[in-house]
Amino acid sequence: MKVSCVLLGAPGCGKGTQAVFISRMLNVPVVSTSDLIRKALSSDLEEHKVLREKMEQGELLDDTLIWGLLKTRLKQADCDNGCILDGFPRTMTQLEMMVDEKVKIDVMLFLDLPDSVIVERMSGRRVHASSGRSYHIVHNPPKVEGVDDITGEPLIQRSDDSESTVLKRLAIFSQDTMPMIRWAHDGHSMLGRMVYIDAAQSISDVQTAIRAVWQD
Ligand code: AMP
Repeated sequence: MKVSCVLLGAPGCGKGTQAVFISRMLNVPVVSTSDLIRKALSSDLEEHKVLREKMEQGELLDDTLIWGLLKTRLKQADCDNGCILDGFPRTMTQLEMMVDEKVKIDVMLFLDLPDSVIVERMSGRRVHASSGRSYHIVHNPPKVEGVDDITGEPLIQRSDDSESTVLKRLAIFSQDTMPMIRWAHDGHSMLGRMVYIDAAQSISDVQTAIRAVWQD
């Protein structure tokens, strides 16, 4: 299993937008754990409903469940040359799972953004539900207000983008994910190069910084 880029960052730091950019640049698919989970939990089974609610409240789901879904996806043929991983790993246990399976990682990219900016960005976020394409009503608006650029279908505000849920997700990020990022930053060679990017810049400046990572 090969991962070209692990995208790390708090919810709302721009991972989804930059994942699409890097995917085009490197010509490998984006693998998003939240998309995998949403597809896997779409039935009316009671167990699925409970997990969907947990997700909507911004809580992390079980490490083993997510890793099982992800492993199956990473073994598909279109990921043979690598992929952009969005949403995993999020805990130290998840990182250890990747290391144990000897997943080859080229670059770990951390999009660094202060919490105050994140709250403002997330309240303006709108997504196209079936593709996961995301927009911002001020910073990255669709060509026509309220509809997806490609399909013309309506955009929605995810229920986990409400302010109280965002604050909860940020708390979980700083408690569970930041220690894992700091650990990875301390130079563990099997994790590939770790690069911090200032995500408070404009989308195109972040893209310039990202392009430079692959030109080095
Ligand atoms: P995201 O869109 O990446 O912020 O993920 C939305 C939600 O999906 C999270 O709040 C979790 O409930 C769930 N999720 C996504 N990725 C993971 C993961 N690696 N570990 C646990 N839960 C996850």
